[in-house]
Amino acid sequence: MLTKILIANRGEIACRVIETAHKMGIRTVAVYSDADADAKHVAMAGEAYRIGPPAVSESYLKGDVIIETALKSGAEAIHPGYGFLSENPDFVESVTAAGLRFIGPSADSIRAMGLKDAAKTLMEKAGVPVVPGYHGDNQDPDFLAAEAERIGYPVLIKARAGGGGKGMRKVDSPADFSTALEGAQREGLASFGDGRCLIEKWITTPRHIEIQVFGDDHGNVVHMFERDCSLQRRHQKVIEEAPAPGMTREMRQAMGDAAVRCAKSVNYSGAGTVEFIVDASEGLRPDRFWFMEMNTRLQVEHPVTEMVTGQDLVEWQLLVAGGNKLPLDQNSLTLNGHAFEARIYAEDVPAGFLPATGKLEYLKFADDVRIDSGVREGDVISPWYDPMIAKLTCHGSRRDVALGRLKHAIDETRISGSVTNLDFLSRLCTNPLFSTGNVDTGLIERYIDVLVKTRQAQPVDWAIAAAVAKGAPLKDVHAGWSLWGGLEQVVTLETAGETRSLSVRFSSPAQVHVTLDGQGFDLGFAPLDNGDFKVSLDGLVMDVGFARGAETVTLFKAGNTFNFHVKQLVGIDTAEGEDGGAVVSPMPGLLKYAFVDAGETVAKGDPLVVVEAMKMEHTLVAPRDGVVASLLVAVGAQVDAGDMLVELEEDDV
Ligand code: ADP
Repeated sequence: MLTKILIANRGEIACRVIETAHKMGIRTVAVYSDADADAKHVAMAGEAYRIGPPAVSESYLKGDVIIETALKSGAEAIHPGYGFLSENPDFVESVTAAGLRFIGPSADSIRAMGLKDAAKTLMEKAGVPVVPGYHGDNQDPDFLAAEAERIGYPVLIKARAGGGGKGMRKVDSPADFSTALEGAQREGLASFGDGRCLIEKWITTPRHIEIQVFGDDHGNVVHMFERDCSLQRRHQKVIEEAPAPGMTREMRQAMGDAAVRCAKSVNYSGAGTVEFIVDASEGLRPDRFWFMEMNTRLQVEHPVTEMVTGQDLVEWQLLVAGGNKLPLDQNSLTLNGHAFEARIYAEDVPAGFLPATGKLEYLKFADDVRIDSGVREGDVISPWYDPMIAKLTCHGSRRDVALGRLKHAIDETRISGSVTNLDFLSRLCTNPLFSTGNVDTGLIERYIDVLVKTRQAQPVDWAIAAAVAKGAPLKDVHAGWSLWGGLEQVVTLETAGETRSLSVRFSSPAQVHVTLDGQGFDLGFAPLDNGDFKVSLDGLVMDVGFARGAETVTLFKAGNTFNFHVKQLVGIDTAEGEDGGAVVSPMPGLLKYAFVDAGETVAKGDPLVVVEAMKMEHTLVAPRDGVVASLLVAVGAQVDAGDMLVELEEDDV
């Protein structure tokens, strides 16, 4: 048995590995870059070592530094997670040469699967079906064009060293072939330093079905059934499930056997995945699946397999790396129910799924689902790494039950501080083809317009956001002065490029009257146990989740997220940029209320005072962090525009 391991990764997968290691009594060593000094995986691990600056080339890809750290810490083995060094045979060799165990397959196994053309040749020998095409050495463009004709259009050109969807070109007719070939070669060379290509028949109605395999050092290999990863966008997986919809016993047997043959042909040890492409134009047929590639590591989507098999794949990895035999043989592995995994990302979907960044001001997940996450509330999604926030995995006795649960759990997820793909995922769950299991790899692209469409905030959403911005439902925090029964308060909100001013008046802590463009809304707020509330309006009751930041209000309503920016009336700092200074009134009026006293610490955006002007209440907020030196005007006094109201102490931070 292993007693201490180093995890050469970050984020959710590092946390995932640490969790199981600790459960097994194995001590853990984390490594981190400067950007991750306060990261969750560092906090979880028994020990942690800095390995370099934020850039991955200077930290998580520094194999030599990582090996040195492992030796220094007394770890016996290195778990690579996925990505980074996980499929780098040279790294595996260095690990082994240093007298450490690599938790994964041998360098030879990885190398055999590293290039698509060599892997296909190997698979043909092992009796594993491969996509019809050309994967030989001849790279003469005319020869390849002739091969494409022979295979029959449409064809797919793939850079043999490609990955992550890069270096692939679909070609529909001979006229486009040479341009596409040049494109694929260029991309292969630029991204992988290898421009050589292979050609495959383009499979129509393709489904991506992969088989989880496991091997040990004693020659045993089993498969743990399939995962369907057909829901992809630009060849990136979005939602994965197990088992594959429509899978038959016969097809599963054929695919499982092929995957085991594949793994055995390269003496595979540890967790691996054999990816197949399936022609589903006439349902799933055992003669219509073909090997695409083998991923020689633990996959992102392994939790769905764990849920349907009841096995902990990281535990299996650690046992195998410790020299043990596989915990179960093929006949002891069983399938139970159905599982889905959705990948929640910080990304700007309407802007073309651009990676987003931000501080996760509020982070809450649904109960009763599995969450794999490398971040906590308050953590930052930095531009340095993959912007994944969490993987949400759920299980049900049947596919429809599990899918219902998935949709519900996505809709219950509360994230503020960054835009996310939650609305996109929620909409995907109700797609008629996905709902009925009629998936293929082109589904998302065909429905993309509907899936990415953001719902515009309706007047009622603006009204709720305005009330929330003013603290609804109120807690009785400001004893001695009630915020309700008062005058109208002005709230200026901005979302999706639109700015509107609303007026908000509390008639009780939970009853708010909001006016927008002359239209009135009488909103009732009733808190729920889960942190959401029920909002009632003219007999209609809505479940609304919310997150309130210093300058933001995020509403979560039935699978839609609305991010509002609250335009605060910021007190002008007379000494901006200097030490000290006072906050002045931007308007003439009555100083109605003070939220702060001398000596109190305030953060930028905290409310300071309320000024009543023209029968409206305006809340002035702190222009910066600081300590209140004194209140310069008594509550109840009349003030002029430009009068100093609150003095802030010198900022010695
Ligand atoms: P990469 O290594 O870049 O991920 P793959 O070979 O795994 O490339 O293919 C990525 C995706 O491209 C597959 O999941 C599938 O959706 C699609 N694809 C691959 N080969 C074919 C093919 N012959 N016909 C149609 N689609 C394909």
